[in-house]
Amino acid sequence: MTFRAVLLTQADKAVSSEITQLEDDQLPDGNVTVDVSYSTLNYKDGMILNGVGRLVRDYPHVPGIDFSGVVSASSDDRYVEGDRVVLTGWRVGEAHWGGYAEKARLNADWLVKLPEGLSELEAMSVGTAGLTSMLAMQALEDQGIGSKPVLVTGAAGGVGSVAVHLLSQAGYQVAASTGRPETSDYLMKLGANQVVTREELAEPAAGPLSSERWGGCIDAVGDTTLAHVLTEMEYGASVAACGLAGGNKLDTTVIPFLLRGVNLLGIDSVMCPFEQRVHAWQRLDDLLQREILSDMTTVVGLDEVPHLGSEILAGNVQGRTVVDVRH
Ligand code: NDP
Repeated sequence: MTFRAVLLTQADKAVSSEITQLEDDQLPDGNVTVDVSYSTLNYKDGMILNGVGRLVRDYPHVPGIDFSGVVSASSDDRYVEGDRVVLTGWRVGEAHWGGYAEKARLNADWLVKLPEGLSELEAMSVGTAGLTSMLAMQALEDQGIGSKPVLVTGAAGGVGSVAVHLLSQAGYQVAASTGRPETSDYLMKLGANQVVTREELAEPAAGPLSSERWGGCIDAVGDTTLAHVLTEMEYGASVAACGLAGGNKLDTTVIPFLLRGVNLLGIDSVMCPFEQRVHAWQRLDDLLQREILSDMTTVVGLDEVPHLGSEILAGNVQGRTVVDVRH
């Protein structure tokens, strides 16, 4: 049987992609085979499609760091044909062939069964970004969220959009920071109570501490933004650091930690334990408002993936981009 896939190849260190037909017996080893329905475009996919950061070592390669679909064959007791599943993380799409293909074969340990109430499209409308946002919100809640608004940086992006919506649905006041003022209406519709400009937060902080503004923060940007935000946290509040869209440096002082008891929490959706994933997907099913979810989602075909990889790296993609793998 043949199936369609985005295949990445490398020649003279340059990476290029094409839509091609593969045979079943070219799939990697694994105890579960999935007919993929939807995958998504994430910042990391943009890096992989453009050969940035050497995330992929073996070519040819099928990218796509997450997908939803239906099990078509399984030699693992936990899965039978017809089970609806979701996959995020475990370096699928990097070290293992991923979701930009009509079929995927992988280790059953990496899958999660979709909650009853969540369709395959809805699951990918949140995807890795949604799981990450949920893990970040849970990490903030575990530490205790303060009385001031919770800030989300990189708010118009994938992680940011879902984070704004989830925090709002969970009853928190939300401040959304964006470099695209034209997305203000969109962010308010997702549930933001106020919009803060990217420039304001990206400037170096005036000193090691500033007035307390934020009861928590989900940060997708890093760099000077994260350093700035640390100086503005409420006493005892936490920042969940998820991403580095603005850069991976962090030039700060120990003062916010010593004098304000600020917590800096690292969020990793890639290797997070199975029980935590199952709980996070269940809570996503409970909290997500389905109409808002479709507002934040753009559905594209497999053919559009190679071009969109550069767009997401340039910060031009709004919300979540779902790839309908069968079209
Ligand atoms: P997106 O590109 O969808 O969103 C990133 C957003 O960050 C952009 O939309 C933009 O928001 C903002 N941004 C982009 N460039 C800059 C810049 N130079 N300076 C400041 N802000 C910028 O990506 P994702 O939401 O998919 O991912 C966001 C980050 O989270 C990435 O670094 C990604 O690698 C990371 N990530 C981490 C995970 C984990 O497990 N820890 C899982 C998933 C993602 P706006 O236009 O609103 O300013």
